[in-house]
Amino acid sequence: MNRKIAILGAGESGTGAAVLAKKQGYRVWLSDSGKIKEKYKNVLSHFEIAFEEGSHTEAEIMDADEVIISPGIPLTASIVKQIRSRQIPVISEIEFAARYTKARKICITGTNGKTTTTLLTYHILKNAGVNVGLGGNVGESFAMQVASGDFDWYVLEISSFQLDSMFEFKAEIAILTNITPDHLDRYDYKFENYTDSKFRIAQNQTADDAFIYCLDDEVSAAEVSRRDLKARIYTLTSQPGNASSDAYCIENKLHININNNPFTMTLEELALQGKHNVYNSMAASIAASLVGIRNESIRQSLSSFENVEHRLEFVARIHGIDFINDSKATNVNSTWYALETTDAPVIWIAGGIDKGNDYSKLEEMVTQKVKALICLGVDNSKLIALFADKVDAIYETQSAEQAVMTAYTIGKKGDTVLLSPACASFDLFDNYEDRGNKFKNAVRNL
Ligand code: ADP
Repeated sequence: MNRKIAILGAGESGTGAAVLAKKQGYRVWLSDSGKIKEKYKNVLSHFEIAFEEGSHTEAEIMDADEVIISPGIPLTASIVKQIRSRQIPVISEIEFAARYTKARKICITGTNGKTTTTLLTYHILKNAGVNVGLGGNVGESFAMQVASGDFDWYVLEISSFQLDSMFEFKAEIAILTNITPDHLDRYDYKFENYTDSKFRIAQNQTADDAFIYCLDDEVSAAEVSRRDLKARIYTLTSQPGNASSDAYCIENKLHININNNPFTMTLEELALQGKHNVYNSMAASIAASLVGIRNESIRQSLSSFENVEHRLEFVARIHGIDFINDSKATNVNSTWYALETTDAPVIWIAGGIDKGNDYSKLEEMVTQKVKALICLGVDNSKLIALFADKVDAIYETQSAEQAVMTAYTIGKKGDTVLLSPACASFDLFDNYEDRGNKFKNAVRNL
């Protein structure tokens, strides 16, 4: 009898994995403990894939030869524990899909900047005429693309949750953007567990592969020197004078030199502004250079890229007050960069679900720039306790409309209202997109 694959979770990745498994001749059982979206049900029915929603039928799952889990399901979930206790391998959709493609893969992980760097890298390759697919956490799943045609290259955004269930997968080019505390609730509140997870991006790499990281990120730098990475290492830094790095900045100019083929560009020419985006631009350029894209083409793409929604997105200027939507800033580090990039005085909208945040990292930035803090969350006590004596005014709100209205009422010409929550959104919103969209609507309704 042919082998059986069970899949937990019928979102983008689970549905893609189910289609690929079916096409590869497996018996497939897909199980989602919640409700499955209509569009995925249609796909499953079209491919005649057996599925259930609202519960997990153990008998169907436990007789699988292998189980693919969606990144949203923690390895500590009781169903996953049961599966593993029966020695059934549990893998991610990325691990599974990679078995069925010969394409080379640029894989991007890190705490912040994954989506931006992924989309930018994809944009550069695509513009240069490379037969390239985009997947992982953005857009269509990797598995679905492998199932429905194939590419020469993929640019994949890979989260630590996916990495946790990856074993044989190899990235020909890996980018580690940075590592700062996040998602600690899924890592036993141990930062080293989260760090180990991120470094799985380098597992199975050989001297023929490339590993790109940021020298200015202390954790990445310390970990790279501690670990025995097999890949060729490429570095980026914004520090002037470090010309031994493959990418660096001097006097407002970005320099990239891969394989003795240098190119420079002024920072103003970059489509993505802000210090963090200089890092993202450098990382994407190194990867593109390694693929063999010409410098002129990289330069053109770096200046033509359009910013991604919900990431430091300019919404409107109303009576001289700028409104910026950075709803995707769901941890302290991304908010730090948002504050760094924004000119004072800032009316800062923050809060939501705290994932074990250490807000003290923001203290200096907040003291310098923030004139008022508008908390937007169910429980704001931690934020209030820390910032009570650091900002002149603190308000509590429970909806995007209320937060925007409060900001508008206290705002003066020249102020910037910045939604950069440093927290997850699920207490008051469906997800960060919902939070960002409601914020934008409220601004447009002013
Ligand atoms: P991810 O996919 O890793 O969550 P995004 O590109 O979606 O990353 O950006 C998430 C948040 O982090 C946004 O608020 C963005 O402005 C900020 N950000 C983007 N790149 C970086 C970086 N290199 N370092 C720190 N923060 C960043």
